[in-house]
Amino acid sequence: MPRPPKWRRVGFIPEVTFFKPAGIPLAHLEEIRLSVEEAEAIRLKDLEGLEQEECAQKMLISRPTFHRVLGSARKKLADALLNGKAIRIEGGNFEMAIRRYKCGDDGEEWDVPFEKIVTGLPQVCPSCDNPNVYPVHAPGFGCAGRRGRRRMGGGL
Ligand SMILES: [Zn+2]
Repeated sequence: MPRPPKWRRVGFIPEVTFFKPAGIPLAHLEEIRLSVEEAEAIRLKDLEGLEQEECAQKMLISRPTFHRVLGSARKKLADALLNGKAIRIEGGNFEMAIRRYKCGDDGEEWDVPFEKIVTGLPQVCPSCDNPNVYPVHAPGFGCAGRRGRRRMGGGL
C-alpha cells in the first residue's frame, strides 16, 4: 500500500513560478524543482522571519518535518543560485490556508479557512443555504477531488 500523501497547509501560491539565470538558453539550463510547500517554508522562515515552531504550526506539520522541508528548499535554492540553474516552483501536496468557495445556485463567493475544511463539514452557501457549492481555484493550478485537494506533478 502506498503511503497516503501528507497534506501541508500553505498560505499562498507564488504568482511567478519560474526563474532563470540571464543569458543562458533554456535548452542548456538545468532546472531545480521547488515544491509549493518548500516555497512556503522559505517564505515563512526566511521572508517573514518566524520561528520554526510557528512555521510548523502554520503548515500543520511537525517541527522536524518543517526542518526537513526548509533544509531541502534552501539546498535547492543554493544549488540554483550558485550553479546557475533555473528554478521552477510546482508540485507537492498542499492545501491553501483559505479556500474560496462559490455557490452553484446564486454565484455567491466566500472564503472558508483551512481549519474548517479539514473538519469535513459539508459547506453550504451562506446566502441561500444551498449545498451545491464548489471550490474556486487559483488560476493555473489543477485540482482533483471534491474537497479541492491538490496534488501536482513532481511530489516532494
Ligand atoms: Zn447560494
